[in-house]
Amino acid sequence: MNRELLYEKSIEGRSGYALPVSGIQEEFPGPEYLRSGPCGLPELSELDIVRHFTGLSRLNYSVDGNFYPLGSCTMKYNPKILEDVSSLDGFSRLHPMLPLLPGAAEYVQGALEVLYRLQEALCDITGMDAATLQPLAGAQGELAGILMTAAYHRMKGNAKKTVIVPDASHGTNPASAAMVGYDVITVATDSRGQMDTAEFAERINDEVAAVVMTCPNTLGIFNADIRKISRMAHSVDALMYYDGANMNAILGKVKPGDIGFDIVHLNLHKTFATPHGGGGPGAGPVCVKDFLAKFLPSPRIVRDRGGSYMPGEGDASSIGKMAPFYGNFGVLLKAYAYILLLGEEGLNDVSDKAVLNANYILGLLRDHYEVPYDRKCMHECVLSAARQSEKGVHALDIAKYLIDMGFHPPTVYFPLIVKEAIMIEPTETESRETIDRFARVMIDAAGLAEKEPGVLRNAPVTTRISRPDEVRAARDLNVRYTG
Ligand SMILES: *Cc1c(COP(=O)(O)O)cnc(C)c1O
Repeated sequence: MNRELLYEKSIEGRSGYALPVSGIQEEFPGPEYLRSGPCGLPELSELDIVRHFTGLSRLNYSVDGNFYPLGSCTMKYNPKILEDVSSLDGFSRLHPMLPLLPGAAEYVQGALEVLYRLQEALCDITGMDAATLQPLAGAQGELAGILMTAAYHRMKGNAKKTVIVPDASHGTNPASAAMVGYDVITVATDSRGQMDTAEFAERINDEVAAVVMTCPNTLGIFNADIRKISRMAHSVDALMYYDGANMNAILGKVKPGDIGFDIVHLNLHKTFATPHGGGGPGAGPVCVKDFLAKFLPSPRIVRDRGGSYMPGEGDASSIGKMAPFYGNFGVLLKAYAYILLLGEEGLNDVSDKAVLNANYILGLLRDHYEVPYDRKCMHECVLSAARQSEKGVHALDIAKYLIDMGFHPPTVYFPLIVKEAIMIEPTETESRETIDRFARVMIDAAGLAEKEPGVLRNAPVTTRISRPDEVRAARDLNVRYTG
């Protein structure tokens, strides 16, 4: 494949456009401002440029290309019409200062109404009362939620020092708690694959500010004791925080607010239709129960008596701003359009299919891989390559082999509590045929581990680079182009 830069492909005098000669350049802006020679941009035809960028785009692996079962990340297909909606001129050309200029809010009522209605829709979906759309990612939503937790305890004069997380939790959960200054208490997972309720009962005490959980957890298992856990937490005035990254498992079925949670963040780029990867863009709105509404970041969009939408005045108790203006507007817009597109029935269908697909994969692979917690899963399933590792084949080797077979690998080595973990999230958007093809390759890999482990250990052979030293690549990253 040709990997030259556009500059190296440049041919003097070649051009990608044809414009008539302009008759007005002589007087304006004056000869002293005119360039005396070409400005040094690459000179190429339109076709050269199209092929250059199309070639680059093919180096990228994406959901548009093939199956991407990266557990916990929800790499699903997002309808293209949502991109059209979010790039409508009436939205994309608005200046974020407009609602703040005297008399100008009337020109942006449509955009403000979208934000307002999205706040309402997310509260409805999560069983909460008030929302902020500001946080730009799930992790930032967590930070906002824990800051609000701290503000709540300060107001009540509670002396709180710790936050409880299960040991299967996503790394951002303990990190967010630590950033706010809490010590983190980790509770083990029991043999059913959920937080050990007896150990939790021993650990919960007056010093606990919050219990941060995702439900279903990162093993894809719904905690059957969740109401009991939230009752125990509330009895010592600890808040229940719901990490909503796995919301596509329960959409339309369970509202976190109905099972005892007080704060929820949602990853709109996972459940609500913004393609993501490589760090962005995202949005992590936070919804809370009424008693926490005054701590939400400001401004929130409100509707006044005359029916106009406005950025509201922040409450004096607000934790302040988490992001410029109103958050990542394009992502918010897509989420709202997605909710309208699917409607109540469609959202219900999302979780039905996400859970069905994951259980279908689990059923196909159960005999070929160890299943550390073998029970009905929710939207993702966790296998282990422990059996294969006895033959010297590791989860990493299987992941690399999948690349040769055209699939993005699942998440491996997470959750940390599972040895040789392989975490598969098919998402609701994949067809049975695709899942069957993937399962076939996973079964082939298990067979190769027995008979021809070298094939797995040498994979991938179809990529430009086979196995980089990943630690060095991260620590000594060198992106200088050397021609
Ligand atoms: C993705 C994820 C997060 C973090 O969300 P970001 O939007 O990537 O910051 C937190 N918890 C779980 C379970 C996740 O899967």
